[in-house]
Amino acid sequence: MPLAPSLANHYASQLTPDAFEYLVNDRGLSVEVIRRFQLGWNGRRITIPIFDRRGRLAFFKLARLANDSPNSPKMVCWPTGNRAELYGWEHLGQPKPGRIVVCEGEFDRLVLESHGIRAATGTAGAGVFLKEGAEALLEVPHIFVCYDRDEAGRAGAERVAVLIPQARIVELPEEVGPGGDITDFFVRLGKSIRDFEDLIEKARPLPEGQRKKAQLEAARRSGLGHLDHPDPRVRAIRENIPMAKVASQYVQGLMKSGSRLVGLCPFHDDHRPSLVLYPDEGRFHCYGCGTRGDVIQFVMEAECLRFPQALRVLEEYVQHRA
Ligand SMILES: [Zn+2]
Repeated sequence: MPLAPSLANHYASQLTPDAFEYLVNDRGLSVEVIRRFQLGWNGRRITIPIFDRRGRLAFFKLARLANDSPNSPKMVCWPTGNRAELYGWEHLGQPKPGRIVVCEGEFDRLVLESHGIRAATGTAGAGVFLKEGAEALLEVPHIFVCYDRDEAGRAGAERVAVLIPQARIVELPEEVGPGGDITDFFVRLGKSIRDFEDLIEKARPLPEGQRKKAQLEAARRSGLGHLDHPDPRVRAIRENIPMAKVASQYVQGLMKSGSRLVGLCPFHDDHRPSLVLYPDEGRFHCYGCGTRGDVIQFVMEAECLRFPQALRVLEEYVQHRA
């Protein structure tokens, strides 16, 4: 159910001076981009309206300010229960652009746009990338993928490159630090558009061996999507996707404690590690807010997805895992 488009305007009109300053200084966004993308304020968080392929307002991403509790999730979806979207559909109408940079998060996209670079991102993080988005991007001659400088980012960029054969992978320089992203590159390191174009020039396609391996793997697992009964699908996901691997993308300070893993819960404002993962049993339980379940439940909560959508994104994850 699309939201009333006036809601984006309403929040945009409520943008506070503090939030505006944060977007300019901490996020490196231009005033023009803040206006064009209708960034706003809902009284607690920054609102980023996400539009679907047909230009309808689908949902909002809500970002916290830098001085908010570091334990509250950086980014949440509102309202919950929406599907993942490509944030960048407006670039994929006719005529198709010659180049798009696919990046890992909404703010990375917006800082690129602030430097005049057309960019897009999936709203469901590095772990999943929307199939429809990938199909639309197939028609763009030059696709560059620039994800965070960490393991999840590398794996995510490779998954995009498997879906989009012409994609070339842009590597952020070591100086962004472990886990550094495009925002670090421009804002913290003060790099220029020229510096980013240099990275783009050095971008390389996914090595053929790696692509073949990923495609073979996808073919081997392609039975997953064709089973009618829900239970085998659920079983296949639980077998193929380790709980800890998925959770580690969302949980801060995940630490081993015996056979369990413990970390800050991303589903509530957690001040002591309340989330416990039981990797052997493939389940999690937050002893703070009571959220619990298996890997599918985790993705539903973390990405605001309904059950069938969570199944789909996890199956894609399995199929495209290199
Ligand atoms: Zn919790």
